[in-house]
Amino acid sequence: SLKLPRPAHRRIMTVANQKGGVGKTTSTVNLAAALALHGLKTLVIDLDPQGNASTALAIEHRSGTPSVYEVLIGEISIADAAAVSEQSPNLYCVPATIDLAGAEIELVSMVARESRLKEALSNEALDALGIDYVFIDCPPSLGLLTVNALVAAKEVLIPIQCEYYALEGLGQLLRNIDLVKAHLNPALDVSTILLTMYDGRTKLADQVTSEVRGHFGDTCLQTVIPRSVKVSEAPGYGQTVLAYDPGSRGAMSYLDAAREIADRGTEMESA
Ligand code: ADP
Ligand code: MG
Repeated sequence: SLKLPRPAHRRIMTVANQKGGVGKTTSTVNLAAALALHGLKTLVIDLDPQGNASTALAIEHRSGTPSVYEVLIGEISIADAAAVSEQSPNLYCVPATIDLAGAEIELVSMVARESRLKEALSNEALDALGIDYVFIDCPPSLGLLTVNALVAAKEVLIPIQCEYYALEGLGQLLRNIDLVKAHLNPALDVSTILLTMYDGRTKLADQVTSEVRGHFGDTCLQTVIPRSVKVSEAPGYGQTVLAYDPGSRGAMSYLDAAREIADRGTEMESA
């Protein structure tokens, strides 16, 4: 496969949807791995106390490990917390430990509580690591951690599961994004919708797909991620599906989605 274009400016994408189980973490780690495979330096920030992205990338995240928690409270820098994954020398991860579970409450009384991640993701910090892409994997809520992610990013990627209640709750997420945009981060944009867990055998999946496309138009990627056992098995081996089964439909679809995202980045630059 051909090399993917390097973005002219670093892209910071927050992967958000307050619903759990829609494919935020799966999409974060697999898109990041796909970009890294093509030579782009990619950083995953695990912002979910569950630490699923850290697990999927086989990054140490026992309590006490330098993590995003210490970054948010200002104890350490992003560079101090970032670990290189075994999958690729281009793929970094700032892990989440269980210590992050208390951060939502601790942050409330802190100065500039909404922009602590943004401050940590300064140009100098990311330049030092040579990062092209940052993906922030959000917890399934719209609390202060997700707000920090929305303030730190320029783009939002919303994974939508191809199932019956797919669009339910999306209005609340979009309103929150608008609030952040109005008050804290005017540059924020929902740049990407990714349909996940598509099951071609069901009529419902097609209905949801066309409903989402009707609603979001070209913001929705052409690539749809199929429901695939390989995708769900991979994290159990501390691997992305790209490493676990490179030829699988799941791996190919995440490579395709990453290519679309990278190509759009070059369109954004010239627009
Ligand atoms: P979220 O981060 O939004 O909570 P996850 O990415 O953890 O969602 O996905 C929820 C569950 O669905 C996980 O067990 C994951 O392995 C599984 N899953 C995600 N994407 C797929 C897929 N394309 N095919 C099969 N299983 C998937
Ligand atoms: Mg998750």
